[in-house]
Amino acid sequence: MISLQLPKECSFREKNRHCGYPPSEVISVIAENDEYMVGVVCSKHRAFVRKYIKNLQLKGQIPPGTIGFQDIKTVNTSCMKIY
Ligand SMILES: [Zn+2]
Repeated sequence: MISLQLPKECSFREKNRHCGYPPSEVISVIAENDEYMVGVVCSKHRAFVRKYIKNLQLKGQIPPGTIGFQDIKTVNTSCMKIY
């Protein structure tokens, strides 16, 4: 399940600075029986964030599983248009 409260900005941070771009995809980790939403990302940082999540999985900070990207437009709700 994708939460309706999607962040308005890409989750990517560099030296404590937010990316600030509107996100285009939801990142989730698909584990054995569960799917965890990890964050949202703009198209520019997609590859970077994938690497970053892999790294967190190796450190055990988030559950192991397949990293999935889902286009935000496909999970769109009328709420999103407020932004
Ligand atoms: Zn970004």
